[in-house]
Amino acid sequence: MKHSLRFASIAALIGVFITSSYAITWFPQEFTCPIDNTKNTFMVVGSYGSYIYSYPSKYQYLFFPRTDSPTFYLCRKCHLATFMWDFDNLPKDKLPAIRKVLSEIKFSRQFKEYTEIPVTERLEIMERIYSVLDKNDSWWEDFYRIKGYHYGKEGKAEKAAEARRKSLELVQKEFKDSKSETPKKLLLYISAAMKHFTNDDKGALEDFQKALDTKYVEKDAKPEDLKNAEEGLNERIKEYVSLIKSADKKPRLFDKAGADEHGH
Ligand SMILES: [Zn+2]
Repeated sequence: MKHSLRFASIAALIGVFITSSYAITWFPQEFTCPIDNTKNTFMVVGSYGSYIYSYPSKYQYLFFPRTDSPTFYLCRKCHLATFMWDFDNLPKDKLPAIRKVLSEIKFSRQFKEYTEIPVTERLEIMERIYSVLDKNDSWWEDFYRIKGYHYGKEGKAEKAAEARRKSLELVQKEFKDSKSETPKKLLLYISAAMKHFTNDDKGALEDFQKALDTKYVEKDAKPEDLKNAEEGLNERIKEYVSLIKSADKKPRLFDKAGADEHGH
């Protein structure tokens, strides 16, 4: 399972056509903190099904497990916070810099389960940790979109908008970058989504139209997958456009409703 990928793009798009019914399951596992050797019990993913691609988080182009609280690990002692797939994969030569960051973080909450701490508090620590890990703009675009999603889910509209504006800025930058390998059609989808979530529906609809006019291209993908991705994304775009034009089904209203990704 490639959880660490920014987006499992083709899988997410083809997922529209596949149905599978594995429940989302998590199970506990012990992890040793690379900073202070503290033993922590974190959750790891047992199973999930392709239905995750149809949850409302798709309107922010985010999918399980990025949408779920156990994904964001936090050491109970030193408060090292990372994505679950990075916790025991941090580059050794970066540990001193991470230690320095941790020494500057004021976080004194005691907790039994790391999931007691709001996701956004863990994300704020992560933002500082990853700032010393040489992450590129596409990584940060994903990060800020995740941050916007979780602030939205917690009902903190201003913080959510701030994060989404950063995501939008980075996705627009990537769109102009000739070295980017992310399908342009997908970048337009994300740009449109972030515009919609920051109340720019006119801009969102323009980007969606551009996305519909842009062919889905992905390096090393099989022709049939490309065809399905093209159709899958077009289907998503058309649905999104109709929701934006509706009075009470606009995707950004999910924020206020506090609906989570399992809210079906
Ligand atoms: Zn630790």
